[in-house]
Amino acid sequence: MDNLKKKILICIHNPFALVNLQPIIEEIKSDYEITIFTSNYFLNNQSIHKKVLEIKKNSQIKNFFIIPSYKSNSEKRSFFSIIKSHYFLYKFKSFFKKKKFNLCISDGSFFIWQKIILTNFLEKNCIRIGLTHDSLNLHLDEFQKFLNGKKIDDILRDVHKLRQIKKNNNKFRKKKFFLRIVNTIKRIEDLYIDRQIIPLILYGKKFIYMKNDLKTAFDTNSFKYIINFFYSSFRFWGKYYGEENTFLVKPKNNCGCNIKKKKNKILFISSFLWNEESNSLDFEIDHFFKFIEKTISEHKEILEIDFRHHPMQSDKNIKFFNEYLIKKNKKEYNINFEHKYDPISKITCEYKLIFGCSSSALYFAKHGCYNAEIVCLKSLSVNELGEKYYYKLWNEGIIMYDDINNSFDNLDNLPSKEYLTFKQSIEKIEKIDKHKNLIYKKI
Ligand SMILES: [Zn+2]
Repeated sequence: MDNLKKKILICIHNPFALVNLQPIIEEIKSDYEITIFTSNYFLNNQSIHKKVLEIKKNSQIKNFFIIPSYKSNSEKRSFFSIIKSHYFLYKFKSFFKKKKFNLCISDGSFFIWQKIILTNFLEKNCIRIGLTHDSLNLHLDEFQKFLNGKKIDDILRDVHKLRQIKKNNNKFRKKKFFLRIVNTIKRIEDLYIDRQIIPLILYGKKFIYMKNDLKTAFDTNSFKYIINFFYSSFRFWGKYYGEENTFLVKPKNNCGCNIKKKKNKILFISSFLWNEESNSLDFEIDHFFKFIEKTISEHKEILEIDFRHHPMQSDKNIKFFNEYLIKKNKKEYNINFEHKYDPISKITCEYKLIFGCSSSALYFAKHGCYNAEIVCLKSLSVNELGEKYYYKLWNEGIIMYDDINNSFDNLDNLPSKEYLTFKQSIEKIEKIDKHKNLIYKKI
């Protein structure tokens, strides 16, 4: 039967993102033959590695490949890992020729392996779709300007990888001499060895960064269509790729709550990396406990607090943090630190309330259940994101609570949204593309 199915290629650089994308893979699995490529980014983290292998097994996707982009046991690249990853990918040249994918969905063309696949391996008529599954990385000052009408070209002129405003770059010039040498070597490896010399030997061409690759940290113009999970991304990329080519989807909600049953658990999602040197650690932990106290006083039925660490938090820091938190837990709340990296949307139903800092994790929580309250705390977000922390989850229906001043940061007059399911968006794109090609042929 598989021979009759359309063939879809999914390229996701950070394998952990696949955890949250599992529901959409399930959604399209019966209609498309799926191939997945990802990299070994952060697979040195054993629990992430285990989870990714579990996804591979559970989804029963035969063609699931992990590109060795990074050194094993590290999240860094080296001269050797560059050669290894090129060699690994090169061997797939004939695989792509044979497969003739109908569609390719990639979370960017920024990384060299994605660029090679998109520009060299796929057939000309394969529909290339960009996918954004994380909140828009744009600096929030610039995002506010965007909402006030600043043109996208002007924004791109003023930023580097979206999140840094250019004038801040002076800081980097002051870096220590040794660090500058290391960075220069890295740059040579990236710009010349990875993107020019090896590709010239293997493919007879270069894959250098295009005009907006580094500015967007996403893509310049590899895609004709873009699918977005977040509303802010939908609006932003709509201006770049054209609104008619940009789609807003939402993950399938599998809420199975029994409304009659009272929930007695809350979940905290830690979305940043805490360590001994974090200078805002005490401030954040104090507010973490204050919020728990407030929540429990309002909802007496709450008995347990589950604590979910950031997936990239190192074991050493997890240990430090858990011990520190236990020490600070003066009122002896029942906090459970056990780790499970299930998709957040799949576990939301277990909780009365989920809280954390302004991050993509809260979005996936929001879309997992109709009966859970999702709260973003200012105290946990302000150090990282500043006073405009709430723009990161703009228009996602998440409660923005300024727990420092006990008030709410409500955004008024938000535009309404029309969602598609992931499958609907792909079908729509195929239809539009077919139509465009017909017109093109007539001309
Ligand atoms: Zn539910």
